[in-house]
Amino acid sequence: MKLYNIKENDEQVSFGQAVRQGLGRNQGLFFPSELPKFDDVDTLLAEDFIPRSTKILSAFIGEELSQDTVKSMVENAFQFPAPIHAVKEGVYALELFHGPTLAFKDFGGRFMAQSLAAVTEGNEQITILTATSGDTGAAVAHAFYGMDNIKVVILYPKGKISPLQEKLFCTLGKNIHTVAVDGDFDDCQALVKQSFDDAELRKEVGLNSANSINISRLMAQICYYFEAVSQLPKEKRSDVVISVPSGNFGNLTAGLLAKSLGLPVKRFIAATNVNDTVPRYLETGKWEPKTTIPTISNAMDVSQPNNWPRIEELCQRLGWGLETLGKGAVTDEQSAETLKVMNAEGYLCEPHGAIAYRILEEQLNEGETGLFLCTAHPAKFKEVVDDILGGDLGLPEPLAKHNAMELLSEDLANDFDALKAVLRKVQ
Ligand SMILES: *Cc1c(COP(=O)(O)O)cnc(C)c1O
Repeated sequence: MKLYNIKENDEQVSFGQAVRQGLGRNQGLFFPSELPKFDDVDTLLAEDFIPRSTKILSAFIGEELSQDTVKSMVENAFQFPAPIHAVKEGVYALELFHGPTLAFKDFGGRFMAQSLAAVTEGNEQITILTATSGDTGAAVAHAFYGMDNIKVVILYPKGKISPLQEKLFCTLGKNIHTVAVDGDFDDCQALVKQSFDDAELRKEVGLNSANSINISRLMAQICYYFEAVSQLPKEKRSDVVISVPSGNFGNLTAGLLAKSLGLPVKRFIAATNVNDTVPRYLETGKWEPKTTIPTISNAMDVSQPNNWPRIEELCQRLGWGLETLGKGAVTDEQSAETLKVMNAEGYLCEPHGAIAYRILEEQLNEGETGLFLCTAHPAKFKEVVDDILGGDLGLPEPLAKHNAMELLSEDLANDFDALKAVLRKVQ
C-alpha cells in the first residue's frame, strides 16, 4: 500500500511507515494513493463481518501484509459485534459501543494495535504517548494492554474527567501507565507535543502517538459501514442516508471511503453540536473556526477537526461535490429534547447519537432509509443521561468491573522534565 502526504505530495510511505509515523512532514496527513473499488458489492455484503472486513482491509493494504496476517489482525481486533437496531420504521441505529470501552473508538484503537504489532519487530521498543479527555485514552489503553514491546503512557487532566471514565482506563497496570497532570487538557496536549518535538527523546523511547489521524484507525472504521448495510433488508439498501455525529471527522472520512469502495450510500450527513465549523463551512464556503464551546456531547467539542483535509482530498479525487453532503448543528437543549423523545419511542440513547438522529429525522425524505451512528454506550455518559431522563442507569459489565478496581495513576506536575523522567522510567 502506498500513501502520500496531502500537504507535501512528494512524501510517499508504505502502510507500515504511515502506521508508525502517524503524521507526515509539515503536519500533513497520509492518504491512500490508490482507491480500490469492489465490482460485486452484493457478494461482499453477503459475507460475515470478519471475512468481509479482511477483504476490505486487504484491498487497501495490498501485498505488504499477507491476507492471512490481515485476517488474524481483524479477528483479534473485531471481537464484538456492530448491530443495527430499528428505532422506528425506516430508521436504524448502528450501535458501535459493544467493545471493551463502550465507544466506537475500540474498532480503530484495536486495529491500530494489531497493525503496529504487525509492522514492527518483536524486540523493537515503542512508547505510545497520548493525551486524552476521555474516550480515546480508554480505547488505546485497552487495545494495547498486555502487548509486551509497546509501552503506553496516557496523560489526562487531574480531576477534570469523569470518575467513571478515569476508572475505565487507569486501573489496568502492566504496560499501561496513566498520568494525572496538574493542569487542563491543553496542558496535556502541549506536553505531548513537546515530547514529539524532542528528537532525542523520540528516538530514545520510540515515541508514537496513536491519535485519530493514524490511517489504520480510519481504515478499520470503514468495515462497520459495510456491516451496517449488510444487516438492512435488501429492499431498503438502495436509498440509504447515513448521519454521522462528528468531532474530528474521522468517522465521516471512513464512511466516505466505504462509499468510494462501492458501498451504496445515497448521502452522508455531517452532524455536529454547536462546535459547527464544518456545517458553517459547507454553507458559506468559509473556514472560520471559533473558540471551542463545552457541550454535553463533549467528545465532539472540536472546532478545528483534524481529519477534514482527508474529506476534501477524497471528494476532490472522486469528483464528489461537497454540496452533496448533508449537514446540521444541534444545541445542548435540542440534544436533550431529542434524547427524551427517543426514550419515549423506546430507544435509550446518549447525546452524541441523539444529535445524529435529530438531523437525520429532519432531513430524511420519503422512501429513504435512515441510519445513524451511536458512537457510545448511554452509560458512558451516565451523569448527563440520568440528568436528562431523571433516571438512574445501571452500569454495564465493563464499567462496573473497572469502577470497583483501584486507581493506578501517578500524579505529575505540569512540567516537561518530570514527564521525560516518567517516559524513561517505564522502559
Ligand atoms: C470520538 C467521538 C466522536 C467523534 O468522532 P470523530 O471521528 O472524531 O468525528 C463522537 N462520539 C463519541 C462518543 C466519540 O467518542
